[in-house]
Formats: sequence, C-alpha cells, structure tokens
Amino acid sequence: MKELVERIKNDGRVLGEGVLKVDSFITHQVDPELMEAMGNRFAEVFAEAGITKVITIEASGIAPALYAAQKLGVPMIFARKAKSLTMDEELLTASVYSFTKQVTSQISISRKFLSDADKVLIIDDFLANGQAAKGLVELCQQAGAKVEGIGIVIEKSFQDGRQLLEDMGLDVVSLARIASLSEGTVTFLEEDA
Ligand code: 5GP
Repeated sequence: MKELVERIKNDGRVLGEGVLKVDSFITHQVDPELMEAMGNRFAEVFAEAGITKVITIEASGIAPALYAAQKLGVPMIFARKAKSLTMDEELLTASVYSFTKQVTSQISISRKFLSDADKVLIIDDFLANGQAAKGLVELCQQAGAKVEGIGIVIEKSFQDGRQLLEDMGLDVVSLARIASLSEGTVTFLEEDA
C-alpha cells in the first residue's frame, strides 16, 4: 500500500536486531487517517469472505482492526495480554513468545465472544516470526471458529512468520513487505494488497 510504504520510508527508523521503529504513526502516536485507509483496504480484500469478527492483539493491532471491523460491519475483539480481574468468565488462552519483548505471555479472549459459527479475520501490526498470529489462530481453533484470513500491516519477510502461517493453510495479506533492514536501510518487496 503506497501511503504506508511512503510513511515507513519517511518516518520509520531501523533499530539493530532487525527491528523497525514506527512509533510516530503506528505503535505509540497513531495516525488515524492512515489507520482508516489500512482498515478499509483489509475490509476490501476480505469483503467476500463472510467475516463475522475481526480479531487482534493489544495494543498496536487495535487501531487498524477497528477500522476494518467498522467497514465490514462486524465487532472487533482484541486479545488481552494480561488477565483482568473483570474477566471472570471462561477464557480461551494461548502462549505467545514476544519477538520484541523476548518474554512469553498468556493471551486470552472471553469464550462468550467467539463460537463455531464465526468466520474470523485476524489483523496485527507486524508479522515477524508469526507467534502472535499463531496464538490468535489457536484461540479461534479452541472456539471452533474458522480463520478466513490474516491481515498484516508490516510483514518482515526476512523472518519466518509468513511461511509458518502459510504452512498452516492460512491466507496472509500484508500491506507492506520488508525484504531487509540491513545497514539501517528498509528494502521493500512487492506488497500483497
Ligand atoms: P511475531 O509474533 O510475528 O514474531 O511478532 C509480531 C509481534 O511483535 C507484533 O505484534 C509486534 O508487536 C511485534 N514486532 C515484531 N517485529 C517488530 C518490529 O520490527 N517493530 C515493532 N515495532 N514491533 C515488532
């Protein structure tokens, strides 16, 4: 997606260890217009999939997921990384190893929000090794919900996430695909959408 690629070129910053910092428009300060355009794009790509729920993981997936859900006319659910005292119902849970924080956390969604009648679009800000998306797929599997697709804002194609998800038979659509972050420079691949 052209606007996103331009924004990454202008405002993204390459950190060591293959990490891209996008805190001025996605992961801390958030650009609502860009989020809406990205959410609309995901909704357009999956318009014929009969999506009933959009699922993401807190925090940075929430903004694009919300706009996609609004456009599709369905609810958005975000998986929580910490258990809240108010989550007193039955939970769907999965373990996720965080690429950036290097810790394993339990993610969860209340069982009552997902069922075997649901067709799910999963959205996240980054795809690195695929652990966050895989955890969300596991939550859907526990509920018997069908994952119709995975929408990613920024895919780091030099890591294994896309392969992992495609090997599970999942359809991955990324708005920006990064071939390399070496020598402080962002090199892009052709995007999916
Ligand atoms: P994965 O689970 O695919 O290994 O990593 C995805 C998660 O790690 C995303 O939800 C995102 O929060 C974080 N992440 C992975 N790579 C990057 C990166 O290069 N920059 C930022 N800001 N977050 C990343």
